Amino acid sequence: MKLLQKLMIDCETSAHYCDKAQYNEATGMERIQLKIHILFCKICKSHTIRNSKLTSACNKASLATMPKTDKEALRAKLNKEMSK
Ligand SMILES: [Zn+2]
Repeated sequence: MKLLQKLMIDCETSAHYCDKAQYNEATGMERIQLKIHILFCKICKSHTIRNSKLTSACNKASLATMPKTDKEALRAKLNKEMSK
């Protein structure tokens, strides 16, 4: 079963793909391999969950630290769009 062998990745590769997936750099095949791996690997599953939580926290943080000028520009743009 060559396909099965191809789909089975080790924990190290899984961690690598997980990081790539976080930055949207993983290919479709890599995402599938990662999903299959975390189906039977509890360690990598918890790693993936923790990683995705971390990423969403980072996204929130970068939103909160958005420069004031950007916020003002965004607000002005929104106001303009809404007053149409
Ligand atoms: Zn694993």
